[in-house]
Amino acid sequence: MQKQRVLILGAGFGGMFTARHLARHSDLFDVEIIDEENYFVFQPLLPEVVAGTIEASDAVAPLRRLLPNSIKVREAQVVGIDLERREIEVVQGMGRKLRKIGYDQLVIAMGSRVDLSRFPGLADHAFTMKDLSDAFALRNHLVDCLEQADITEEPELKRRLLTFAVIGGGLSGVEVLGEMEHMLSSALRFYPHIRREELRFALIEYAPTILAEMPENLSAYALRRLQKRGVEIYTGQGVKSASSDTVELSDGRLIHGMTIIATIGNSPPPLLAELPIAKQRGRIATDHCLRVPGQDGVWALGDAAAVPAEPPPADSRPHRRADDPKVEVPPPTAAPPTAQAARQQAKVLAANLVAQARGEPMTPFHYRSKGQLASLGGQRGIANILGVNISGFPAFFLWRLLYLGMLPGAATKTRVAVDWLLGLFLRRNLVKVVQRMEPAIFQSHYREGDVVFREGDACGPFFIVMAGRFERKSRGADTIEIIERGGVFGESALKGEKTRQSTVTALENGCCLVIKRDDFALLSKGWQVLAPRMEAEWRRTAEAEELTQRESVPAQQNRR
Ligand SMILES: Cc1cc2nc3c(=O)[nH]c(=O)nc-3n(C[C@H](O)[C@H](O)[C@H](O)COP(=O)(O)OP(=O)(O)OC[C@H]3O[C@@H](n4cnc5c(N)ncnc54)[C@H](O)[C@@H]3O)c2cc1C
Repeated sequence: MQKQRVLILGAGFGGMFTARHLARHSDLFDVEIIDEENYFVFQPLLPEVVAGTIEASDAVAPLRRLLPNSIKVREAQVVGIDLERREIEVVQGMGRKLRKIGYDQLVIAMGSRVDLSRFPGLADHAFTMKDLSDAFALRNHLVDCLEQADITEEPELKRRLLTFAVIGGGLSGVEVLGEMEHMLSSALRFYPHIRREELRFALIEYAPTILAEMPENLSAYALRRLQKRGVEIYTGQGVKSASSDTVELSDGRLIHGMTIIATIGNSPPPLLAELPIAKQRGRIATDHCLRVPGQDGVWALGDAAAVPAEPPPADSRPHRRADDPKVEVPPPTAAPPTAQAARQQAKVLAANLVAQARGEPMTPFHYRSKGQLASLGGQRGIANILGVNISGFPAFFLWRLLYLGMLPGAATKTRVAVDWLLGLFLRRNLVKVVQRMEPAIFQSHYREGDVVFREGDACGPFFIVMAGRFERKSRGADTIEIIERGGVFGESALKGEKTRQSTVTALENGCCLVIKRDDFALLSKGWQVLAPRMEAEWRRTAEAEELTQRESVPAQQNRR
């Protein structure tokens, strides 16, 4: 039997665990997993990275260590899915090369993205909590707030530096807030000019209660516990807008603070929205066996998919009521977007892939909740396990035990366990680790004959020629354009083109100012506003210079 080529898009809980299960069936499949990063992120531990209770590198694990060599790992960004041609398109490598990869079976496990565009200003000013870099950035920012607040002599600035607003009272919002409050409060012993009363925390939740997914008495316990620690809780409140140091609530109230953290706005990756398949609130609707209906060989799971939580009863008629076929039965409820559900789905999906390859019957997915747990920081938590509600330290201990069990790989488990153990005896690390960000604008030098980019490469940055001469050539056109000092190339990205339409080569040694694609788009937006003013300013300066020159000529003539 010929092996099937399986492509897994996304190496999170859904994708990585599917690959692991399939590794045992190398006789049936050639499996390739594709992700933008070369590591697996254990998202539930990100609040602990913010708090410094575990090292940032311990919340992630390299894919090549978690997966056997029989699984091909490709670090690349998926930019297109063509269901008709059965191929996907990726951008990979430093040269942003575009590649097409065919498949027999496609597993979509791309999780969700944060989309804050509905709230003016929020995307520009809020920290998010999705990836390691988010946790790292927030942690550094919090340490910076303490450092600045300890030395400032301006009371208003100090107040804003020490006000922290978390938007979203679900599991992740409450966990981030709890850990952050505990970390900042316990760090104050090293900051003699900050008093605990000067720290202000606000939790904003649109629903009438926080942790709506938890049993009522546990969410009430969490509310009481957080309020006791001085957290202001605003329920039934949305966010209207945000600026660099203010959050505006839906009732018009303002919270002035320099730290806004948004754990809301989860939505599937934009790429999935374009696919001609049925969706449920943006998530790909699958059947009970995790297949995408109407698409042979396409499967989906995890946060990106709406997978029915219950298998259909034997006598069910899925879309019409049995007693009245005119009445449509609402779609079955989907399994929750959690790591727990994604892991369970991975097991069933892998088993069903094997079953379809062998021509055997498939197994429907049945979500079995192992319980709901949340850490509230300060060694307190809440848990609902097998219907039993637990709170306080026992719940916190259970939380750690369960998540240790869920971590993939013995090395990751050991590292996290050691971090937690040391945390019982040692003080937290308050070092601000400065990450060298890649600059948005930089200079790049070229030697004669160097190719800057090739026709067909994925669109990237924009170039301004500072020195030298460059040649722009496209395959279809017979003209060759020479670009010299002051000239530009690479503007195709702004026109919405996906790939470079020409090849640019250095004709002599030269140098360009390079502006990254997104930054260039932002700059152009600002430029439309700035340009008329700048032009008027330049004109005024030029006229003033001309006048000075004209006046100085007769003066010189008179002197002679
Ligand atoms: C702060 C926080 C706390 C949480 N706490 C809990 C908890 O306590 N319990 C629980 O069960 N769940 C928790 N969750 C939710 C849980 O982490 C997610 O439900 C789970 O990660 C979903 O798995 P997934 O595989 O669908 O997506 P992810 O794990 O998000 O994986 C998706 C992968 O796809 C990749 N990807 C996306 N787009 C592309 C692209 N275009 N090209 C290439 N790769 C791409 C991403 O890089 C990522 O690796 C928490 C989440 C957060 C953010």
